[in-house]
Amino acid sequence: MYVGARTLAEEVAGLVRIPSVNPLHAGPRAEEYGPVGEGAIAARLAARCEAAGAREVVLDEVLPGRPNVYGLFRGRSDRLVVVDVHTDTVTVESMTDPPFDGRIEQGSVWGRGALDTKATLGVLLALLDSWHRAGLRPEHGLLLVGSVGEEAGGLVGATRFRPWAEQRGLRIDRMLVAEPTEFRPVHGLKGLVLVEVTAHGTASHSARPDLGANAVEAMAPVIAAFVAEQERLGALPAATELGNGTVSVTQISGGTGSNVIPERCSVTVGRRIVPGEDPDDVLARLADIARAACPVPCKVTSLLPRTPDGRAGSPAFYQPPDSDFVQYLARAAGTAPAVAPFGANALRYSGLADELVVFGPGSIEDAHQDTERVAVADLVRLAGILTGWLAPG
Ligand SMILES: [Zn+2]
Repeated sequence: MYVGARTLAEEVAGLVRIPSVNPLHAGPRAEEYGPVGEGAIAARLAARCEAAGAREVVLDEVLPGRPNVYGLFRGRSDRLVVVDVHTDTVTVESMTDPPFDGRIEQGSVWGRGALDTKATLGVLLALLDSWHRAGLRPEHGLLLVGSVGEEAGGLVGATRFRPWAEQRGLRIDRMLVAEPTEFRPVHGLKGLVLVEVTAHGTASHSARPDLGANAVEAMAPVIAAFVAEQERLGALPAATELGNGTVSVTQISGGTGSNVIPERCSVTVGRRIVPGEDPDDVLARLADIARAACPVPCKVTSLLPRTPDGRAGSPAFYQPPDSDFVQYLARAAGTAPAVAPFGANALRYSGLADELVVFGPGSIEDAHQDTERVAVADLVRLAGILTGWLAPG
């Protein structure tokens, strides 16, 4: 069953024209186009699922006005596969292009989200719609998950979907998480622990530093200790092709005036974690490093919401590259399995499905840029791969 390039491109363009900037990426430019967030695109997705013959469509409000959408489609067997697509996009404030015009030009669909990651959403909706009109069903039941809040805010949509699926007792054979991977089946992602370290000193006039305790100066050995930790991690043998964990100090703030000994200084520290590392152990180690190095009292707090099983961050996601679904997608796309350094909803889905792969057209290096586009040829290629996998009949 062939769905034409124009149909695929129009479906993706229609989604791009519905702004869905993550509220944590909001700004004046995004707000010109109406309310930020995923509410409008969720409504469109739900309507398209209904039109394409879904047997059930659920709107699951994760945060006010920001629902996940679950569209359940009957298959010809009682087994189930899942495609997860995040519905939010990153900021449009620095875009040099009209962000939401969804124009089809130079062989591409242009606009924020075209690549990351409305391409897969649009292609899948166009396929389901045409199969429904032709009286076809996919081989297995299909659950299309449109999840909010992937780009910022701790993967809240994926965090919400998981217990929903578990409570309904869903047995999921294969799960595809849509992201731009250049059609490579990604079978491993690093996890993340993110903390804020705050040094608490004592303020005094800067003419009398002896009367205070300088929190900014106290942070210097803390930062040096994290630099040393990064060197230690870099020298460890790697357990998988994901390599080693890394640690970076990415933000600093502190001080109230040029003539005041600062009483407070904070840094943000991000720790990418690899298979075999437990987020709680990693958090404890970050806290030990900070406290051992800091000459004044210091507090370490996690900046990520706890995972549903109560962990202080996201463990890495990894499954061996010889699994059937990884190999199937690599053959179908003519690519090789890969691992990726970025985070994605897959970090919330370990163990939820028998097999879990991150997959989609385009390169992550082209996402989040001042212009964004997806090639229509890639939409056609994706439609072929999804049709082969989902096997309508
Ligand atoms: Zn994405």
